Amino acid sequence: MTTPSAAVVGWPLKHSLSPRMFRLFSREAREPVHYKALAVRPEEFDGVLKEAAGGAWIGWNVTLPHKVRAMELMDALDSTAREIGAVNVVRFADGRSEGFNTDAAGFLAPLKRKRFSIAGRRVVVLGAGGAARAVCAAVTREKAGDLRILNRTAEKARALAKAVGAAAAPWTREEILAAVGGADLVVNTTSLGMEGDTNPLPAGARFKPGALAYDLVYRPRVTPFLQEASQGGAEALGGLGMLVAQAAETWRIWFGKTLPVDALDQVEADLKEIL
Ligand code: NDP
Repeated sequence: MTTPSAAVVGWPLKHSLSPRMFRLFSREAREPVHYKALAVRPEEFDGVLKEAAGGAWIGWNVTLPHKVRAMELMDALDSTAREIGAVNVVRFADGRSEGFNTDAAGFLAPLKRKRFSIAGRRVVVLGAGGAARAVCAAVTREKAGDLRILNRTAEKARALAKAVGAAAAPWTREEILAAVGGADLVVNTTSLGMEGDTNPLPAGARFKPGALAYDLVYRPRVTPFLQEASQGGAEALGGLGMLVAQAAETWRIWFGKTLPVDALDQVEADLKEIL
């Protein structure tokens, strides 16, 4: 049997952890796969996808800026990708492409492992980009008591809030402090903290006792958001567990096999070493 090929497809593809992560999965699952990073410009994406559907690929991870275009080009879509409005995983079979979104499941997995239940809780989401859409879909599905979305571009916060039946609030210091102070779960879905000392949380933010601060950013492992949240009394959860969980969901979609929890723990530990 020929070894299946898979890739992460994006532009630009700087420092993607996916090739390393999928090689670790391949090792842990004893399942050979050729996994590469494919830098594809937006104007080339349609053609490359069309060719891939007839080729030897098992699947792709799709990343920025192709997630919405990928959705438009799929032969079939699963219900989560349709709900979120973006595809981050493609499965190729019999000359056809099928699109999925694993970010919502990936977001929930670390919360479930912590036995943190969203049902009935007050949730604040900072940001309204692609990742926020997946997070808000998951939070709504888990029946949060209250969901509040704050984003620098107010129109995007309002549109997302309308789509998921949540409230939007302005991106001001006072509004962020007030929202955070009343929340059980605060999720940073902005890209702040990836580069340098940027932070969506104003200095001096205070959290409710028992509140959880969850940063989707995974590099650096301890972000300015998580530092500030810890100082403000919250428990901190970084984005690496989500990254591994959404990739494990990808693996299940491609190979029909669930990776064991200890294998995922091993992969997360290996990734921590290099971050
Ligand atoms: P998008 O580009 O779609 O969204 C970026 C978000 O960050 C927007 O809400 C944007 O606000 C906000 N933002 C950017 N710069 C600033 C700024 N200077 N001040 C205030 N807000 C700002 O990206 P994604 O949603 O795809 O990804 C967001 C982050 O989540 C990334 O760091 C990504 O790595 C991480 N992520 C992690 C995953 C994981 O598995 N752990 C999975 C998916 C994403 P505005 O609308 O105003 O531009």
